[in-house]
Amino acid sequence: MKIYISADMEGISGVATNMQLKKDSEYQRFRRLMTADVNAAVEGAFAGGATEVVVCDGHGNMSNILIEELDSRAELISGNNRIMCQMEGIDGSFDGVFLVGYHGREGGNERAVINHTLAGGCVAEIRVNGRAVGEAELNAGVVGFYNVPVLLVTGDEALVEEVREWSPDIHTVQVKRGVDRLAARLLPPVKAREQIRRKAEEAVRGRGRIRPHILEGAVTYEIDFHGTNQALMTTTIPGVERVGPKTVRFTAEDSVTAYKEMWACLIIGMAATRGVLGDVNA
Ligand SMILES: [Zn+2]
Repeated sequence: MKIYISADMEGISGVATNMQLKKDSEYQRFRRLMTADVNAAVEGAFAGGATEVVVCDGHGNMSNILIEELDSRAELISGNNRIMCQMEGIDGSFDGVFLVGYHGREGGNERAVINHTLAGGCVAEIRVNGRAVGEAELNAGVVGFYNVPVLLVTGDEALVEEVREWSPDIHTVQVKRGVDRLAARLLPPVKAREQIRRKAEEAVRGRGRIRPHILEGAVTYEIDFHGTNQALMTTTIPGVERVGPKTVRFTAEDSVTAYKEMWACLIIGMAATRGVLGDVNA
């Protein structure tokens, strides 16, 4: 039985502010905490009956998890030149997905810790078929295409509430409660990890009771960027239409194709934040 774990960093036990996740001395501590939460999920998955676990590092530059400290039964997808963003490597061979260390969408809840949607520097909101979504729901729609369910989500209280809106059945672990976007009341990581391990085991054992999150038919995305510069440059992609000064829209035939197109828009949007060619002068 194969379990896929997509790991982000903002919802990891012990994280309270985004300054801890940037490339300074604090960051090295938080990489270890991220790896430890993932290990708790891996341990629970195997205890519940998994025979293979693949972990996908999905935060920032996508090479945060310390491979030398990762449970040796798991394999790791690391590095960012990939077409499926936080879900690289997912396919129909998996029996279930965990989303570990996730966070609420930008502006969805005033206490969602480090709330943002995929690319905080350029994206204000993403709507799928008209509904504002966070990363957990977006990614659940992607794995739903393969008829695979999301079994477990871990993060702060606001994320748990967000997940309940679209799937009350998914197992959740609340490892912190937001005070503000950049402050939180934290469970001690050892206690949080014990809950993650236990819920991961339960989730794998009870996987038959959780239905995949399936988006039927064509999927329409709307992306609100923070700037007009980002919105403009995404219209270089065929099918991407500008529907407002900072908003673009496109429709793709299924949730996986749409997700790739969304990721292309975000890559271009991130590049356009300071001008797509940066300081190229040739
Ligand atoms: Zn992240």
